[in-house]
Amino acid sequence: MAKTFKNFIGGAWTAPLTGDHYEDRNPADWREVIGRFPKSGPKDVDRAVQSALKGFALWRRTPAPARGDVLRRVGDLLTERKEAIARAMTREMGKVLAETRGDVQEGIDTAYYAASEGRRLFGRTVPSELRDKWAMSTRRPIGVAGIITPFNFPMAIPTWKIFPALVCGNAVIFKPSSDVPHTGTLLVEALLDAGLPPEVVQLVHGGGRLVGDALVSHPKVPVVSFTGSTETGAKLGEICGRMHKHLSLEMGGKNAMIVMDDADLDLALDGVLWGAFGTTGQRCTATSRLLLHKKVHDRFLRMLVDRVEKLRLGDGLLPTSDVGPMINEGALTNTANYVEIGTAEGAEMLTGGRRATGARLGHGWFFKPTVFAGVKAGSRLEQEEIFGPVLSVVRVGSLDQAIRINNDVRYGLSSSLYTRDINGAFRAIEDIQAGITYINAPTIGAEAHLPFGGVKETGNGHREGGWQVYDFFSETKTVYVDYSGTLQRAQIDNYEG
Ligand code: NAD
Repeated sequence: MAKTFKNFIGGAWTAPLTGDHYEDRNPADWREVIGRFPKSGPKDVDRAVQSALKGFALWRRTPAPARGDVLRRVGDLLTERKEAIARAMTREMGKVLAETRGDVQEGIDTAYYAASEGRRLFGRTVPSELRDKWAMSTRRPIGVAGIITPFNFPMAIPTWKIFPALVCGNAVIFKPSSDVPHTGTLLVEALLDAGLPPEVVQLVHGGGRLVGDALVSHPKVPVVSFTGSTETGAKLGEICGRMHKHLSLEMGGKNAMIVMDDADLDLALDGVLWGAFGTTGQRCTATSRLLLHKKVHDRFLRMLVDRVEKLRLGDGLLPTSDVGPMINEGALTNTANYVEIGTAEGAEMLTGGRRATGARLGHGWFFKPTVFAGVKAGSRLEQEEIFGPVLSVVRVGSLDQAIRINNDVRYGLSSSLYTRDINGAFRAIEDIQAGITYINAPTIGAEAHLPFGGVKETGNGHREGGWQVYDFFSETKTVYVDYSGTLQRAQIDNYEG
């Protein structure tokens, strides 16, 4: 009998008020149940908010360097537990161990960055217009932060949000994707073991429509940070707009890699394989389009298909696996639908295109790495986010044309250009509409200390990572101290004529 897990609310591990649970299964072999997790409801969310308000009252008064010290201990614990968490993550999410280790490492790096930020959280001091007066700005915590995260980076993405939120002095309610509740539980355990006061963090498991919606709509949750699809993000935007909440959205992508005729083709080949099929294509930054210069098109495609066919599908826990399963049956069906769409649009499927079967893979959600050539700019295959192991190749005649096609989608997260032409590279950096541009590297591979996020329908103007996320999780308070002992009137008394 699989273990039954609980929410963490009110400083204790508690069963959901709904009394309801669901099964979390291993995507590499769905016969294996990882655990039964709470199918919580709005009343659980409300209890979590009441508790978080108490946590906030305590935590906002804790000095920021002391808050940072807790995060440092979290970093130490995640380091100690890295291998165990990575294995648990592969078991519930599917991606290969090298990637889940990287996912935990991102959390560790984010923890240490957050720890040191507790000693900065800079405000500014500027000259006042008036004599005997100081003018400055300082950061204040906001309140209870609702954190809603997707399945594909079960540790890294929650830490990108939760750690800065905590260092800034907020309390947190964390709703992980219902596909990866176990990793979410392991993260909250690390926070508590590191000494975070219990009511400062709440973990509420369950589906987006019930738990996520209740969290976003709750009037006592003034700040919401969300990563997920553009469709879900739009719904959150409506609610938060109506309620005047702070909202950070990180959403979909349709990222392209441009390979020019002067590129190092072997390097580009390694890059596109990693970018398109790492995490089984289930990355917001996945290389979903390859814009290939006509002079190298046929040669590069032959090299590519040869390498794609050598990728070994399998359980991510096995060292022999290069590509793991997809997250669930729905994701697999969605990918299969796009194969039908691409074929109907006249694109040529060079390899893959179907689910993997057989004794070894038949009980998992495995889909063969797929390459389409002859994809037309503007077609659905070229325009829509698939979030699966499907690469669409578009033939291009120049860098200008490639940049135009790159930009002609609703999303703008990541981008990549392989070239030896320094002038072309800098032009692309300026003209590509994306939050991130890589030169001679694939579209994936964010570093924790740099801003991360996208333009157009990928985001709403905020950034995670690095120094910028601290702006999102804090309010700026402006402070004037007048020690002149007289009434001085700004804009009126400031210039002595
Ligand atoms: P999703 O939108 O289905 O779910 C994301 C989270 O939102 C989950 O926790 C889900 O339970 C919750 N949710 C769903 N409906 C909700 C609602 N009505 N109200 C509140 N919460 C709700 O996304 P997913 O399938 O988990 O992840 C894939 C998507 O995430 C892709 O579009 C991908 O591009 C995007 N993503 C973006 C980034 C980024 O940084 N830009 C990173 C990773 C993933």
